[in-house]
Amino acid sequence: MPLSADETFAIGGRQVAAGERARLELPVVNLYTSAPVVLPVVVVRGRQEGPTVFVSAALHGDEIIGVEIIRRLLRMPVLSALRGTLLAVPIVNTLAFLHQSRYLPDRRDLNRSFPGSKSGSLAARLANLFLKEIVDRSDYGVDLHTGAIHRPNLPQIRGDLANPETLRLCTAFGIPLLLNSEPTKGTLREYTTTKGIPVILYESAEALRFDEVCIRIGVQGVLNVLYEIDMLERPRGVRKAAVEPVIARSSTWARSPASGVLRAQAALGDVVRVGQIIGIVGDPLSENETPITSPATGVVIGRLNLPLVHEGDAAFHVARVDDPDAVAQALDLMHEQTAAMKRGPSGEPPIV
Ligand SMILES: [Zn+2]
Repeated sequence: MPLSADETFAIGGRQVAAGERARLELPVVNLYTSAPVVLPVVVVRGRQEGPTVFVSAALHGDEIIGVEIIRRLLRMPVLSALRGTLLAVPIVNTLAFLHQSRYLPDRRDLNRSFPGSKSGSLAARLANLFLKEIVDRSDYGVDLHTGAIHRPNLPQIRGDLANPETLRLCTAFGIPLLLNSEPTKGTLREYTTTKGIPVILYESAEALRFDEVCIRIGVQGVLNVLYEIDMLERPRGVRKAAVEPVIARSSTWARSPASGVLRAQAALGDVVRVGQIIGIVGDPLSENETPITSPATGVVIGRLNLPLVHEGDAAFHVARVDDPDAVAQALDLMHEQTAAMKRGPSGEPPIV
């Protein structure tokens, strides 16, 4: 909630005053080796009054792009002019991150364990700690995710678009594609939707990998959100993103109808029509071939890159949009422009 400049922000036994930056470690649990596991948080308090926003990553321990997005964000000199409070949580799920896994060691998915409780499973306790210390104290939030292993996502924003404030943040992020899917039970998004906290999700790239363009789009997107909610002054000469995002009301996966070796015929960002052949599954030793057809007309927003499939495996994720060509063109342009920049918005050399 907005704090006045003479109030301190109390967290983890610390009082963070206006104009101060603090690194904290909130205790989560001890490993069975007795080593403590903590939830690391960086609190950046502006000198001036303003809202509180959280930016979080690695809720799923193998989705590491957001860790780099937050690292770059925290190094930006522009934060010295911040109004309000930024709660940066680059590694929410420390235990899963250590194991390079989506899941906690108890095999639970943290992002199906909200709101959790103090006395529940390890996942429930961590979910509860994250809500109580971070989310419930924020006016806004940006949560950073990626696709699964071998399944990269096209950059996209997800959020509860029925909430006008959330829609405002989604639009401000500056990506041409918004996905308005129903939140799954137990997700952070279900919790914040119910509570009416405007939280948006940035989805891009794949688990356990970096992708420079997706990182840059993420850093710029978070900055765009901070401009929109007046926590940062938009630099002179930098105009508000002119993209009018297209909203996909639903999406669907094309599953492989057979087991075999997959030859993909549609790339991320391609426009596909319902019934169009988007992949061929073949047997390496015979001439048996089975096409995978698109279950919808839209844009490919997720794709399996590993060309080996079992029958039933999710292979292509297609977002249904009214004007897929317009979305595909806007995304192509954004990708090209971002890739052509020598350095991204944070001025860091690219990861290659
Ligand atoms: Zn995720």
